[in-house]
Amino acid sequence: MSTANYFIEATYLLASVFFVLGLKAMSHPETARRGMFLAEAGMLAAIIGTLMHHEIVSYEWIIAGLVIGSIVGALMAIWVPMTAMPQRTALSHAFGALAAALVGIAEYSIHGETMGGFTLGALGLEVMLGSLTTTGSLIAAGKLQGFVRGTPIQFKGQHIFNLVLFSATVASFVYVLLHPAAAVAFYLMVGLATLFGVMLVIPIGSADMPVVMSLLNSYAGLAAAATGFVLSNNVLIIAGTLDGFSGLILSVLMCRAMNRSITNVLFGGFGAVSAAAGDTGGIMREINMEDAAVQLAYANRVIFVPGYGLATAQAQHAVRELGDLLEGRGVTVKYAIHPVAGRMPGHMNVLLAEANIPYSSLYEMEQINPEFPSTDVAVVIGANDVVNPDARDNPKSPIAGMPILEVDRAKSVIVLKRGQGRGFSGLENPLFYKPVTTMLYGDAKSSLMQLTQAVQHA
Ligand code: NAP
Repeated sequence: MSTANYFIEATYLLASVFFVLGLKAMSHPETARRGMFLAEAGMLAAIIGTLMHHEIVSYEWIIAGLVIGSIVGALMAIWVPMTAMPQRTALSHAFGALAAALVGIAEYSIHGETMGGFTLGALGLEVMLGSLTTTGSLIAAGKLQGFVRGTPIQFKGQHIFNLVLFSATVASFVYVLLHPAAAVAFYLMVGLATLFGVMLVIPIGSADMPVVMSLLNSYAGLAAAATGFVLSNNVLIIAGTLDGFSGLILSVLMCRAMNRSITNVLFGGFGAVSAAAGDTGGIMREINMEDAAVQLAYANRVIFVPGYGLATAQAQHAVRELGDLLEGRGVTVKYAIHPVAGRMPGHMNVLLAEANIPYSSLYEMEQINPEFPSTDVAVVIGANDVVNPDARDNPKSPIAGMPILEVDRAKSVIVLKRGQGRGFSGLENPLFYKPVTTMLYGDAKSSLMQLTQAVQHA
């Protein structure tokens, strides 16, 4: 091995160590930022190693790609709001998968006929997963952004059609393995996998898109690992495998938090019908700012329950101000975090950390649920599905069995939302009709700011 090759392999090893340490650090909110820096350092090491490769004959196109990619990436990071992060991530998956598929297609067109069985197998897998992940991720991004209808798009015989499509894709893959020179079968496989990506995602409702994206992320990772085998590139194999399996674990964790199985998410058509709510007996009662402020100011224990509405309103700083004010008056203030509140895992942790709310004040669902009965006021800030008692009480509800934050067991519940909007699942929420609940209508940030002022005068 030449000195340059030793250097390349050393940078790849370093990059892999950074990726592993980065992933480990990202598993806790307190160390997540360090994890991102470690992962970035790993990526830098991998890029430097790759640029040293002796097969590179000219740097012009690479530099052009680096500059354009860096500018686009930086602009997206600056301008895309946190609430649009899921669709931004879906776009990144699409581009990553497209890159893997294109590398595979280029390798096949140059060396396809002479490739060994193992390499050709890895290449076929790379192109198949890469193609279906590209279109699947684009549809996921479109659904999340509203370009594509968010509710499941279903038709009669869909499962059979998808099964036939998948079988035909795999059959073309096997044919190419047996007849490496059969370019028509290879490109047929690419076309079928591309179509399969679309068909796989359109029947899934946008409420389940974060899980789907995490699964697609895992496919993109596996496509990258397969690319590593084709190119004999160790860092791609390691990073792709880490990506593939962390995506899979994340999908499983999200499904568990919603009490759903992966098959139910992929084939259940969740969100196609809007089921009737359980017991919505009663009326929604409105509360005015002054009365809400008095409840809070004279409470002993208050729990804030943030949800997606807190993210859209960017109300994290406003809630911290109100929390600090109440604590200053001797109220015990806690923040309850549901694992799938918001639109991506850890969404609420990130937002509250941005407002410097200490981790010691944040409580996981299992820790905080027993505390609601002894809580004077639970303040629900733009959360809906994660506090929907139907999940616990109505076995016919589509979200039956999903663990919830049991705010309805608090002595009083104040819900901050703009109007009659439903949650991501599109379901009615009986919490809003319960005798303990009152509604404080308005944008979460503005309501919290007005509440803070009103508490000061209470
Ligand atoms: P949610 O059920 O989507 O409800 C959000 C509520 O916020 C809406 O009812 C809306 O009502 C209100 N809202 C929106 N903008 C607002 C604003 N500016 N000010 C005040 N209120 C506002 O949110 P969630 O309770 O956080 O539940 C998350 C959902 O996403 C769950 O269904 C979960 O399964 C799903 N999901 C999450 C993840 C994840 O990783 N986090 C993954 C997969 C699925 P108005 O329109 O009336 O204001």
